[in-house]
Amino acid sequence: MKIELTPELEELRAEVRRFTDRELEPLARLIDSTGEIPQQAWDVMREAGYLGMRLPEEYGGTSASLSQMCIVLEEFSRSHRVLTGLIDATSGLTPSAFVRHGSPAQREKYVRKLATGEMRAAFALTEPGAGSDSAAISTRAEKVDGGWKINGRKHFISGGHVADVLMVMTVTDVQKRARGGITALLVEKGAPGLTVTRVDTTIGSEAWKLAELTFDDCFVPDTAVMGRVGEGFRIAMESLTDGRMAVACCCIGAADRLLDLMTAHAKERVTFGQPLAERQAIQWMLADTAVDIVTARTLAYETLRQIEAGRTVGSAPSMCKLYCSEMVGRVTDRAVQVFGGQGLIRGFPIERFYRDVRHYRIGEGTSEVHRMIIARDLLR
Ligand SMILES: Cc1cc2nc3c(=O)[nH]c(=O)nc-3n(C[C@H](O)[C@H](O)[C@H](O)COP(=O)(O)OP(=O)(O)OC[C@H]3O[C@@H](n4cnc5c(N)ncnc54)[C@H](O)[C@@H]3O)c2cc1C
Repeated sequence: MKIELTPELEELRAEVRRFTDRELEPLARLIDSTGEIPQQAWDVMREAGYLGMRLPEEYGGTSASLSQMCIVLEEFSRSHRVLTGLIDATSGLTPSAFVRHGSPAQREKYVRKLATGEMRAAFALTEPGAGSDSAAISTRAEKVDGGWKINGRKHFISGGHVADVLMVMTVTDVQKRARGGITALLVEKGAPGLTVTRVDTTIGSEAWKLAELTFDDCFVPDTAVMGRVGEGFRIAMESLTDGRMAVACCCIGAADRLLDLMTAHAKERVTFGQPLAERQAIQWMLADTAVDIVTARTLAYETLRQIEAGRTVGSAPSMCKLYCSEMVGRVTDRAVQVFGGQGLIRGFPIERFYRDVRHYRIGEGTSEVHRMIIARDLLR
């Protein structure tokens, strides 16, 4: 069953599918073999207009709608999760915050370069003592003459070690905290007192690295405040809907590709004299996967439709993120089973998908946090 989109979105999907097959698939193999994102990936995506796509045209973006971005992410996810990170880096929370809250000088200095990937930004909220409970951060910024002095430690910051500019969430009023006591400060690479103290890789792609950053009397001038003092938590929470819908659609794209791979393998692979596709045990795995994907698409596309129609959707983006991230976990597990030993071999896509999709249940709010949000909505 095909879940229908508007003709424009269907056209966009077909165009992105062609681009992904032609340009991104070879790069996905390169990313896997080197553990790095090649400059070529940024270049081809920039030339095709996918970088900065959610940003206004005046800043080098294409003013894409949330649905358009989600369809692009879905298609890129059929190839390699890391490629979707390039859209996030140029259109996600941090570049959008620059557009919405940046001073004219900040927008002038950063936005166009962020939109084209010429400059890299990272978002630094999580700390060793504060993950899901992000309001519990303890990195402090103290007002000093002409600016702010930051002390504390952030970890798990995607691309934090290579970022030209970091948007750092700091406590500026311990009493108020999330209610007006957290401020977003921009810290540039090489700022005195900023040190990259560790770079972690995860079970996912080697090319996706997370940094630990230590701030030791790190001075930033008054012009480094993003928005107003005390607005940081609101800025951080503002892009949640985009982020949740983006993850949901990435999960759908990965699951859809896995179903294609599983189906082709089931038809080809012969055991005990018959293709796997003839066996009911295998057919049921394919059937359950198809149902999972149709359900996920129905939920996600309807939520997108309502968001764009201006309806109040409550916790629906959390439902999408929760359902789709858990769905793709089930699907990758089935894919490994259908492929048998080959599903576990490094260098084949199944094994990579299996590792790569695991983080979707943790990043952008864990499954438990989304269940809390949905339950809170129900019990209100
Ligand atoms: C690949 C990746 C990229 C990331 N990139 C960034 C980034 O760029 N910037 C950034 O700031 N952060 C980033 N993060 C951090 C991410 O936001 C946190 O990992 C996430 O919010 C969870 O926090 P935690 O890891 O500290 O887990 P914890 O908060 O310690 O939670 C541990 C477990 O306990 C559960 N739990 C927590 N509280 C409750 C509760 N009240 N009830 C029930 N269960 C609960 C959680 O769901 C989880 O299962 C990234 C993480 C990953 C994995």
